Amino acid sequence: MKRKAESTADTPRIHPMFSAAKTQQSDKSVNTTVNWTVSADKGLLIGTTHPLAPFASSKIASFDFDGTISLSGGSHVFSKSPDDWRFVHPSKVKARLLELHAEGFRIVIFSNQKGLLDSKKKGQGHTMESIFKGKILAVARELAIPMLIFAALDDLEYRKPSMGMWETFLSSHNESIEPDMKASFYVGDAAGRPERTERGVSKPIKKDHSDGDLKFALNCNLPFHVPETFFGIDMNGAALVPEKWDFDPRSYSNGVPLFSPASTPLIPEDFGPNDVEVILFVGSPASGKTSFYKKHLMPHGYVHINQDTLRDRKKCIQAMLEALKSGKHCVVDNTNPTVSVRAEYIAAAKPHVKRIRAFYFTASEELCEHNNRVRAKWTKGKGKELQRERISSVVLKMFRKNLEIPDGSKEVGIEEVKRINFLAEFEDDEHKRLWSQWH
Ligand SMILES: [Mg+2]
Repeated sequence: MKRKAESTADTPRIHPMFSAAKTQQSDKSVNTTVNWTVSADKGLLIGTTHPLAPFASSKIASFDFDGTISLSGGSHVFSKSPDDWRFVHPSKVKARLLELHAEGFRIVIFSNQKGLLDSKKKGQGHTMESIFKGKILAVARELAIPMLIFAALDDLEYRKPSMGMWETFLSSHNESIEPDMKASFYVGDAAGRPERTERGVSKPIKKDHSDGDLKFALNCNLPFHVPETFFGIDMNGAALVPEKWDFDPRSYSNGVPLFSPASTPLIPEDFGPNDVEVILFVGSPASGKTSFYKKHLMPHGYVHINQDTLRDRKKCIQAMLEALKSGKHCVVDNTNPTVSVRAEYIAAAKPHVKRIRAFYFTASEELCEHNNRVRAKWTKGKGKELQRERISSVVLKMFRKNLEIPDGSKEVGIEEVKRINFLAEFEDDEHKRLWSQWH
């Protein structure tokens, strides 16, 4: 490699700290400690090495920790004690990190450590916290170079792929120095690769546990590497890193129609003065149901029936019947995933209406999870009225599991099914920016 040859040459390119660190390595190793602080919002744990304090630089060499720099000491995935670790490669990781430091790169670690500080004791008196901090300290002593460590404790603001750690680093931990986005980079093992085989190795390599590292780098606009290629362990390691996703918030377009089929109107035009209808929504949480109601049906006088406010199905049916009897159209804005749930509304409504339609919200699970996270972030701290808590992913998965997509030709009582597509709409530019990132 050209770059390597240059950096090991005996030239002034070598950072002065490096030669000093080399000669006094053993002293520095023993003296190295890591000072830890927690952010005011308790979402972030920040570590700095001491006495070699991290220095600001425009060149940022940033890394995931577990699976990228360090592995457990054996074949198990999670370390059982602070000593239970080894570098991802016995010699190459350390050599490369020292080299980067010598080249003036600032070494920063961005690690997801949800719930680290409130985790219970594991065997032998160790906690997740003591294991993580112990491993970081061991690595810091082994390297004896300045390092800055960020660990995301929460699941919303800071957890990768969200940009919270990178934004915090830039705004308050790099002395306002603009990063050189071409020279800087991020290395992580959670790259969304499927199960794969290595040449000459019979046992397949497990698929990556997530694609959070890759998406984090894409969000931050940082060049991305997997540890295998970055440290020169396996140059085919990046071959299966995905480049396309079924859902990609960076390029999600509104090119799709609002609804289909378009052969019949959204609001019926064939109703007499006393005709009313019921629209049963069918859709995942965070698929855009209530926004759609407010924008397209509320202006036409449709009454909103919703189980979150009315508590149970009985009350929903009761409210629906009252509205119908007073001559008003109704929208049942619940998830209504199954034929049997919908049948209860259909049976009750049938004698009172001209028509029952189902509106099926087509947003994929990925899109709904995205909306769910963005909504919680966007409304955070905006007061009781506006704030929306994130819905558990389990609830979103459960909807998919139970879903029986309505079919107008088969489901008794439903005259027409309209497919409603999610169109991204934004309150302002900041909302748009937030929505257009991975979360
Ligand atoms: Mg990892």
